Amino acid sequence: MWNDALVYIQEKVPKQVFETWFTPVVLDRIEDTTAYLAVPNKFFGEWLGEHYRDLLAEAVSVAQGDGHLDVSFVVHNKQVPSTLPAQQESGSADTAGRGFVASRSKRGVQLNPKYTFKSFVVGAGNQFAHAACMAVAEQPAKAYNPLFLYGGVGLGKTHLLNAIGNYLAERSDLRIAYLTTEQFTNEVINSIRYDKMIDLRKRYRNVDMLMIDDIQFLAGKERTQEEFFHTFNTLYEAHKQIVLSSDRFPKDMPDIEERLRSRFEWGLIADLQPPDVETRIAILRKKSEDERIALPEDVIHFLATTMKNNIRELEGSLVRVGAYSSLTGQTITLDMAKNVLRDLIGDKKKIVSIEDIQEAVGSKYHLKIADLKSRRRSKTLVHPRQIAMYLCRELTDASFPEIGRQFGGKDHTTIIHACRQISKAKEADSTLHTTLEGLKEQILRA
Ligand code: ADP
Ligand code: MG
Repeated sequence: MWNDALVYIQEKVPKQVFETWFTPVVLDRIEDTTAYLAVPNKFFGEWLGEHYRDLLAEAVSVAQGDGHLDVSFVVHNKQVPSTLPAQQESGSADTAGRGFVASRSKRGVQLNPKYTFKSFVVGAGNQFAHAACMAVAEQPAKAYNPLFLYGGVGLGKTHLLNAIGNYLAERSDLRIAYLTTEQFTNEVINSIRYDKMIDLRKRYRNVDMLMIDDIQFLAGKERTQEEFFHTFNTLYEAHKQIVLSSDRFPKDMPDIEERLRSRFEWGLIADLQPPDVETRIAILRKKSEDERIALPEDVIHFLATTMKNNIRELEGSLVRVGAYSSLTGQTITLDMAKNVLRDLIGDKKKIVSIEDIQEAVGSKYHLKIADLKSRRRSKTLVHPRQIAMYLCRELTDASFPEIGRQFGGKDHTTIIHACRQISKAKEADSTLHTTLEGLKEQILRA
C-alpha cells in the first residue's frame, strides 16, 4: 500500500524532490485514521509536513482506498549513518513521544514549540523586534500595546510571536490565543454562516493576549475587519495584550480601514530586517548544532553567503544538505552542498530570461506567448499569466516594472498582485506548489 502511495506521489513531484524526500520514508503503521510515516530525523519530518503534508495525506488515502487518512511522522532509528548522530528522542517534553508534529496543540493553543526565544538568534536586523517581544512577554499589556511586528517573508515574525506565546504558556496562566489571519477570517465566515457569532466573540474577547499573524491578509475582507475592530477595542480597553505581525507597514496597507490602520500604530511598531552575514552564520551554527548536522566551516560560509535574504531559505538549505548526507551516509562537503542545492543557487538568475519563462508556461498551458502578453482576462488566461509573472520574479532579477513591460506593457501593480496571488495560493494548494516546482525545474534545466 505504501508503494502505491509512492507511485502516486512520484507522478506529482519532480524527480529530485522525490528522491531526496520520499524514497527515505516508510510507512510505520496505520492507527485509526492516521498513517504514521517513519522518517530519518525530526527535521526531515517537519520539512515534509510543512511542504507535502497534503500530498502525503492524499496519497495514503488514495492508496488505502478507504476514506481520508491524516499523516503524522515518527523517527525511525534504523540506518543512521555515523556522520549524523542519531536524533535523540529525549530532550524537551515537546519532542518526546511519537507523533511530534501533532503535539503542537498540546498547550491548548496552536503554538509551535520549536519557536522559542532560546532558539531565536539575535542579530543586527532583528535585535529591536526581539527586544520588543521579550518586553511584551515579560510584561504583557504593560510594555507596548499593541505590538506590531513587520518584516519580509522568512525573517522571523511567526517565530517571535510563538516565542512570546511559549514563554508565557510556561510561566503563567494567561489565556493566550495565537492564530493566523486566515484562521480568524475562516472563523468569522463560519460564525456568520452557522449563526455562531456570539461564540466567536466569547472566544476572542475573553483572552489575556491575542496574537494574529500576517494581518496584511485582512486587506479587502470587510466583515472580518469589522469583527477584528471590535475585538481589538474590547481587548484594548480591558488592558489585554495584542500582538500583530505583517509583511508591511500599516501605512502601506491600502485595503485596510483607516480606523484599524491607525490602531496598529497606537503601540510599538518593530521591524525585522534581513540578517547580516554574521547573523546568518550564527543561525547556521546554532541550527546545525541543534539538529546534529556536522557542517564544515566552508559549507557554513558558502550557505551564509549564498542564501542572503531569507532565513527560511537558509534553514531549508541546511535541512536539504543534512537530509542528503543522512540518506547517503556521505560526510558533508562543499562540493556535495553545491550539488544538492544546485537548483536553488548558482547563475540561474542570470541565465533565465522572461521569454524562457513565457515559453515554458505557454507550452504547459497550450497558450501562445501573445496570449500571455495580451489584456484578455478569460479564466484560462489569467491563471497561467499570473504563474508566468510569478516565475519571472522568482527566477530572474527583473523588477516589477520590467516584468510588466515584457508582458505587453502592464502596470507594475498588476505584477505585484499576480505574485501575491500565486504565492498565497501555493501555500494552500499542494498541486499548484508541485506545478510551480516542476515548471521551475524545467526552466532551469532548459
Ligand atoms: P516569517 O513569519 O517572518 O515569514 P518565520 O518566523 O516563519 O518567518 O521564520 C522562518 C524560519 O526561519 C523559521 O523556521 C524560523 O524558526 C527561522 N528563523 C527566523 N529568524 C530566526 C532567527 N533569528 N533565529 C533562528 N531562526 C530563525
Ligand atoms: Mg510567518
